[in-house]
Amino acid sequence: MYRSDTIVACATPPGRGGVAIVRLSGDQALTIAETLFRPSRARQWSPRRLVHGVVRDPDRGQAIDEGLLVWMPGPHSFTGEDVVELQVHGAPLVVERIVAAAIRLGARAADRGEFTRRAVLNGRIDLLQAEAISDLVDARVEAGADAAWAQLQGALSERLGRIRNEVVEVLAEVEANVDFSDEELPDERVDVRTERLLRSIAEIESLAGGFAAARRLRDGYSVVFTGRPNVGKSSLVNALLGTGRMIVSHEPGTTRDTVEETVDLGGIAFVLTDTAGLRATTSAAEREAIARTRERVAAADILVGVFDRSVGLTPQDRAVMAELAGRRAVAAVNKCDLPARWSAGDLAADQQLAVIETSARTGCGCEQLAARLVELVSGEAAIQRETPAISRVRHRVALDKAAERLRAATDLMRMHEDRAPELVAVELRAALTELAGITEPLDNEEVLDKIFSEFCIGK
Ligand code: GDP
Repeated sequence: MYRSDTIVACATPPGRGGVAIVRLSGDQALTIAETLFRPSRARQWSPRRLVHGVVRDPDRGQAIDEGLLVWMPGPHSFTGEDVVELQVHGAPLVVERIVAAAIRLGARAADRGEFTRRAVLNGRIDLLQAEAISDLVDARVEAGADAAWAQLQGALSERLGRIRNEVVEVLAEVEANVDFSDEELPDERVDVRTERLLRSIAEIESLAGGFAAARRLRDGYSVVFTGRPNVGKSSLVNALLGTGRMIVSHEPGTTRDTVEETVDLGGIAFVLTDTAGLRATTSAAEREAIARTRERVAAADILVGVFDRSVGLTPQDRAVMAELAGRRAVAAVNKCDLPARWSAGDLAADQQLAVIETSARTGCGCEQLAARLVELVSGEAAIQRETPAISRVRHRVALDKAAERLRAATDLMRMHEDRAPELVAVELRAALTELAGITEPLDNEEVLDKIFSEFCIGK
């Protein structure tokens, strides 16, 4: 349900800072601001102009702070409603007093993402753009920020719009036939329509196919370090963290048997995971740890096989080498600061595999290892940064359902050669509803609640 009351919240992060922004949106925004704020020079309030003045407590008339105010009348504002933003000193107590005063004057404390939610409900932006705002705010590396920005500019909405238009046109033709279903239609017409739907399905599939890569750009490529115990896997993870910018995870930490850290290497996020060594064991706990290791190795985007050059090669090392075959992988020949017992050639690596000599102790070779990781994904990441791609399960599910409906429509067309237009139309309309749900808030409170619960208050 859309509530049109006036909402208030601090739009800047809580805590002390240079400036804090208190934002009001709704019919009463200006009236409340007029009571709270006394411009230093008496003149008419003009829209979209910064005005200097003093914020006063409405009950006692006492000054709380001085600051700047800007009034953005609806519908040409972020939310589509009257918006007032007050820039004051970044003092938590000042902000608290202003928000409390606004509430006494009739405003309500905004929920998470409520400003953006109003922007969506008022048609200022679509759902994909709202999600892009959330992604941009949360972006941890340049690549993720670029992708969010492209989505915010509407690149993905446009691509979806083109697919929808195509389906709408086919639907219009099919519906036109409903009244003439007894008449014979030239076969080519059916073929052209089927062809158009197949193209739309292919487009949807290509969008859905970009999902995993887009997620990696947002959350990071998973890099799993594998190798015998004591070869220096966790030391290498730590050394690599030192070559880039370490990213602290937003998610609360979970207890795990491995180190898992995210690092920014060349603007791309990598989640580095160290694994328990794959040794033969009888203990149940260790067997479980090994099973988890195997799962991680199987799911990794990139494998780093680690080998210790200061001791002899073992069958276990060869087993690790075998794991790297056919995968996006690097071999790190570690402890190269110590006397060598074998040379990189002994690993019998295939031509594709980069073998890099490293020392987690001296840091030698770690830059090359980092550069190699970036190189392994940079082509794919560059495409992803520029190509609009879906990045949420919600989108993926809707696309899959839409494609399924379109496939059913093409099957019906082929089967009945345009003599069952009603049935085809039902499928096409269902596909359109699925596609529309990706960008439009189709009266689905639950979906909206879920999307905006990811936002912070004041956004
Ligand atoms: P993991 O079991 O494979 O994770 O190995 P660790 O990272 O725990 O390292 C095992 C031991 O090897 C530790 O004592 C490390 O200090 C040491 N180590 C790791 N990397 C190097 C290296 O490059 N050179 C030397 N000399 N020692 C290393």
